[in-house]
Amino acid sequence: MTIGAGAKLSDLPLREDLVGRSPYGAPQLAVPVQINTNENPFPPSEALVADLAASVAAAAVGLNRYPDRDAVQLRRELAGYLARVSGVPLLAENVWAANGSNEILQQLLQAFGGPGRTAVGFEPSYSMHPIISTGTRTTWLPAPRLADFSVDVPAALQVIREHDPDVLFVTSPNNPTGGSLELSDIRELVGAARGIVVVDEAYAEFSERPSAIALIDEFPAQVVVVRTMSKAFAFAGGRLGYLAASPAMIDALLLVRLPYHLSVLTQAAAIAALRHGDDTLGSVARLVGERKRVAAELTRMGLTVVPSDANFVLFGVFDDAPATWQRYLDEGVLLRDVGIPGYLRATIGTESDNDRFLQVSRSVLGAAR
Ligand code: PMP
Repeated sequence: MTIGAGAKLSDLPLREDLVGRSPYGAPQLAVPVQINTNENPFPPSEALVADLAASVAAAAVGLNRYPDRDAVQLRRELAGYLARVSGVPLLAENVWAANGSNEILQQLLQAFGGPGRTAVGFEPSYSMHPIISTGTRTTWLPAPRLADFSVDVPAALQVIREHDPDVLFVTSPNNPTGGSLELSDIRELVGAARGIVVVDEAYAEFSERPSAIALIDEFPAQVVVVRTMSKAFAFAGGRLGYLAASPAMIDALLLVRLPYHLSVLTQAAAIAALRHGDDTLGSVARLVGERKRVAAELTRMGLTVVPSDANFVLFGVFDDAPATWQRYLDEGVLLRDVGIPGYLRATIGTESDNDRFLQVSRSVLGAAR
């Protein structure tokens, strides 16, 4: 008998607003084709692993001391990368980093959300936006997307005027549907908002659209662009998310972040990974090519594929998506059932992952529709 098994969750004096909630729970199953969490399927290069190991070893000599609380060198490197790709001359003062972009989102909601405050997002979108909102006691107000999963900009402007959210989430490219917004549309949404606008660009490297980083100088009190090293940088296990914003926005986050939140080891590892950034990001074009191939093949099978500029595709339409998800799993292919009736999401994997996924798709199709 496990120690403490006498207490159930329902026995605990939990906050009322958390009773009955479900935790984030993408299954982690050891099957041959794991294409359910939008990771980069390519492992780090040998050169990166060697550099990272040496960097962590060097950092370990000082493990008895706390890390640089403000992660200045890492933020300088991240700013350099963003400046290169966006053409906006960002400095370390424009960038903040944390343990995954989920922690960045949590810090933003701790600073700008909270009791009596509201956050709006266009659903279906990233499931952690409402979960982190609820966790920080920010009232979550979902607004619908159009039937094709795009944002209805005039309707969105109406929602913003009506609800006046303290935090507006714009996910571009959107997870789990894959589409992105034009910069001019994001500018319009920011123009209508009073609160901050969190543009979640976790998948930006896979898209050709310009980044909302271009809007920071125009709306320095509002625009925050959230990025991650979990996807294109193939660093999901390293846990490194970051944002670009005005220096004032980062001053706000310093009020809520935990001191020394980014370990010496994380900072050293992320800096090493960034040194190999050009090499790692070489996988982006390959994954985009594969995304096009996978989308075309699924379409040829008669499936509906939502246009994506991320590293995944949402596809259907199945009479029973959960049963279809199970059928794929029985064949060793782990997809994501994101709860959109009739649809499943597949992350673009290696060429052989994708071949296997397409092969299983052909075999499950007859039974599923
Ligand atoms: N934003 C979006 C839109 C995502 O899809 C994800 C990961 N699935 C994240 C943020 C969080 O990623 P991480 O914490 O690994 O940076």
